[in-house]
Amino acid sequence: NPNMMLRINIVPYAGHRYLLSARDVTQLHRLEQVRRDFVANVSHELRTPLTVIAGFLEAMTDSDDESLKNWQRPLFLMNQQVLRMRSIVEDLLLLSRLESENYQIVTEPVLLAELLEEIYHDAEALDQENKHVFILKLDPELALEGNAEELRSAFSNLVFNAVRYTPEGGEITLHCYQDERGAHVAVSDTGEGIAAEHIPRLTERFYRVDVGRSRNQGGTGLGLAIVKHVLNRHGAQLHIESVVGKGSLFRCDFPLHAICKSI
Ligand code: ADP
Repeated sequence: NPNMMLRINIVPYAGHRYLLSARDVTQLHRLEQVRRDFVANVSHELRTPLTVIAGFLEAMTDSDDESLKNWQRPLFLMNQQVLRMRSIVEDLLLLSRLESENYQIVTEPVLLAELLEEIYHDAEALDQENKHVFILKLDPELALEGNAEELRSAFSNLVFNAVRYTPEGGEITLHCYQDERGAHVAVSDTGEGIAAEHIPRLTERFYRVDVGRSRNQGGTGLGLAIVKHVLNRHGAQLHIESVVGKGSLFRCDFPLHAICKSI
C-alpha cells in the first residue's frame, strides 16, 4: 500500500543490539486529516454569516432611527461578541493553514529588530493610557530567514499575552539576540505568572489557566497554539519559564542555520 504510514521506533536493547518496532499509523493520519479539513471548512463557512451580522450591527449602531435608541447598549454588546467570534474564526483558519501539509513556507530575510519594533508600536497603541512599561533590547542587525507574516503573528501573540496577563505598571521586555546556539526572541513580563503544572499544556488549542479571565480579556485561546506551529515551521522551539506572582518568559529559539549572514 503506497499510502501506508509507519511509525518506527528504535531502542537500544541488551548490549549492542537494538529493538525495532513499527506501528501502522495510516488510519490515525487519515483521521487527523479529516479533523483538520473539518475545522478548516467550519471556520470558512462561518466567515460569511459573521460578516453579514457584523455589517447590520454596525449599521444599527450608527443609525439615528429613534426606535433603536434603547438598543444601543445591547447592540454594542452583540457587536463585541461578533468581533470575538470573528477573531476565533480567523485564528482557526490561520491554524489550519499552518498545519496543512500542502502549505509550503515561503521565506525571506526578516530583520527582527524592525519587526519587533512594529509590534511594540501596535501594542503600545492598544495599551490604553500606557498602563505598561515597555523595554526593548534589540540587536539591530540580527536577521532570520523566515516568513515575516507568520513571525509577526507569533511574536504579536506573545506580546499581547504579556500585556493581557500583566497588571498595570508592569514591565514588558522584548529582547532579540544571538549566541552560539542560535537566534532568540524573548518576550518577558512581570505579570501574574503561570503555575508549573500548566506550562506543558499551554500550547494546546483552547487551553487556558483561567478560562473566564482569559475570555474577558479578549483572548481566543489559540494564541500559543499558533506560536508553536509558526515556530515548528521555522525549525524553532518555544521555551517557557514562569514564576507565579513574578512573571513569565516566552523565548523562541531559532537554530543557527536560520540566521541570515547579511541582508
Ligand atoms: P489566550 O487567548 O487565552 O491568551 P493563549 O493560547 O495565547 O490563549 O494562551 C493560553 C493561556 O496561557 C492563557 O489563557 C493564559 O492562561 C496563559 N498565558 C499566556 N501568556 C501568559 C503570560 N504572559 N502570563 C501569564 N499567563 C499567560
